[in-house]
Amino acid sequence: KSGFVSIVGRPNVGKSTLLNHIVGQKIAIMSNKPQTTRNKITAVYTTEEGQVIFLDTPGIHKPKSKLGDYMVSVAENTLNEVDLVLFVIDATEKRGAGDEYIIDRLKQVKTPVFLVINKIDKVHPEALLPIIDEYRQLYEFKAIIPISAMEGNNTGSLVQAIFDEM
Ligand code: GDP
Ligand code: MG
Repeated sequence: KSGFVSIVGRPNVGKSTLLNHIVGQKIAIMSNKPQTTRNKITAVYTTEEGQVIFLDTPGIHKPKSKLGDYMVSVAENTLNEVDLVLFVIDATEKRGAGDEYIIDRLKQVKTPVFLVINKIDKVHPEALLPIIDEYRQLYEFKAIIPISAMEGNNTGSLVQAIFDEM
């Protein structure tokens, strides 16, 4: 099995932490420089089951310029070309314009999307249900997976679900 997975989400939701946790080493994150490259590979995860290639997808935010418009269209094309999108949110933060913008973009692609609710180590389990309800009404996610990227809670299930989708 092998496939391409794009990780999207607002800044600071824990995308890099998740990649580092899955891949396990510092090799996950090549740099913090602004990224302009299309389909930048940030991590490759290999097991006996197969290989998952994680891609950074820049530009999933409201464009402020013509160049921004272009970047967004590039990002949308990328979302169409991958096998799976992980949309990461922060369980401790209210839904914001940044999330809505991403959801609008996701609605324009056919690729399956997992909602990854991160930082569950910081919230009570009961707090997850309203979040799940809220997001379910906005988009038909293929799966909704609560995790703590930092502590590794449920990240094994996420990886398994990713492989199941390939
Ligand atoms: P990115 O901008 O989406 O790549 O977010 P980062 O991976 O850089 O994480 C932003 C901040 O959230 C950092 O201070 C992380 O340590 C923290 N963080 C990420 N994942 C978790 C988590 O599961 N639990 C907690 N408590 N903090 C987290
Ligand atoms: Mg990051």
